[in-house]
Amino acid sequence: MNADTSTRRPFERGVADLRAGRRAVLTAAASGLVFSSALGAAEAAGATARSSPKRCYVIVTDGCRPDEITADLTPNLHRLRAHGMWWPRATSMPVMETIPNHVMMMTGHRPDRTGVPANSFYDRALGEVRDMDQPSDIRVGTVIERLNRQGYTTGTVLSKEYLYGVFGDRATHRWEPQPTLPITNHAPDAFTMAALRDMVTEFDPHFCFVNLGDIDRVGHADLTGTTLKVARTAALANTDRLVGQFVDDLKASGAWRHTMLLVLADHSMDWSVPTNVVSLSSGLEADDLLAGHVQIADNGGADLVYWTGPDADREAAIDRIRDIAQATDGVLKAWDRRADWLRLGPEAGEVVVFCQAGWRFSDPDPLTSNPIPGNHGHPATRAIPFFVAGGHPRVEHGARSPRHARTTDVAPTVASFFGLGTGRYEGKARI
Ligand SMILES: [Zn+2]
Repeated sequence: MNADTSTRRPFERGVADLRAGRRAVLTAAASGLVFSSALGAAEAAGATARSSPKRCYVIVTDGCRPDEITADLTPNLHRLRAHGMWWPRATSMPVMETIPNHVMMMTGHRPDRTGVPANSFYDRALGEVRDMDQPSDIRVGTVIERLNRQGYTTGTVLSKEYLYGVFGDRATHRWEPQPTLPITNHAPDAFTMAALRDMVTEFDPHFCFVNLGDIDRVGHADLTGTTLKVARTAALANTDRLVGQFVDDLKASGAWRHTMLLVLADHSMDWSVPTNVVSLSSGLEADDLLAGHVQIADNGGADLVYWTGPDADREAAIDRIRDIAQATDGVLKAWDRRADWLRLGPEAGEVVVFCQAGWRFSDPDPLTSNPIPGNHGHPATRAIPFFVAGGHPRVEHGARSPRHARTTDVAPTVASFFGLGTGRYEGKARI
């Protein structure tokens, strides 16, 4: 039964946990949205809860490109950025995918420490490719648990099924989005922001971590030409309006002057035409050494290739995989995963292959595995929005930094805001 629980999809597992009473404290807000408070965490926090008025919200506009924040299209985000602290050179870190970058945000470390290098990976123990959506996939502590231990209360409001899964019960309070999500595995931003507003009304945690999935999901959608642009524009405008409403709430309640709001994306987005598809599977399987001994985890703009044959042949296999990938149209570069700068750890396999801008991977099947034009994971999707706003005195106004902010900087920035040390983090505090 335990094995069954661990391999269930995250929402199924969440529902099962709720039914079994493993998450004891359930609250339905006036709107009907459901929150759970992790068993034990709420009492622990309640026993020592701080009365600090400080509030910090990290809002991830999933898949938003920095050039999409403009005065016309996203006036609220644009105004917050202009009046706050802005890092125009900020980037996502490899692999430029959703789960690893959200984990980097909350841990302040790269994937060779966190254990989470990609969305999709080959689980050697299980013998299959799966999403990194299990709470135990994160191998280090997060700033969420650290705040809990210090008597601060925390909340997660995550619109995507696998994020809900991987962050598990870490926060004091978490939104249970399972009723809203059957098809796209994500909740629309209108629900997610309603949940954030309800969570603030109901529990008012010191810290909330929020993922808004609409911009990304529309970015992936299989719409062509002008239709895609119209849908993307509508999603950006809608998300911007919802964030604006949330800020208006904070200003109306007087909380804004105690608030730091960090807005960023986990990666940006790149679009490919149907003919620009890279598929490595057939080339690798046609090789005598590699046939039957490789697995590929497709991450859109990056393929992770795993050697499953004898250890004695590993180095030769790595050379062969790189040679074959490198000779394939649309491949930008095939890296030995151990390359110093990648910092991905063994979960990322033996070879990490990035595609060129305007291309995508579709493995193992070139036609069916990845039919969507919008992708990320490759270097073309590194640039992200990254800015801090709010009325708290720590937030400077109209500041613009030339420094290279990264997704790993979120945890130390949050820790610094709450007066906790930042020496343990690889990322840097940006306030
Ligand atoms: Zn994402």
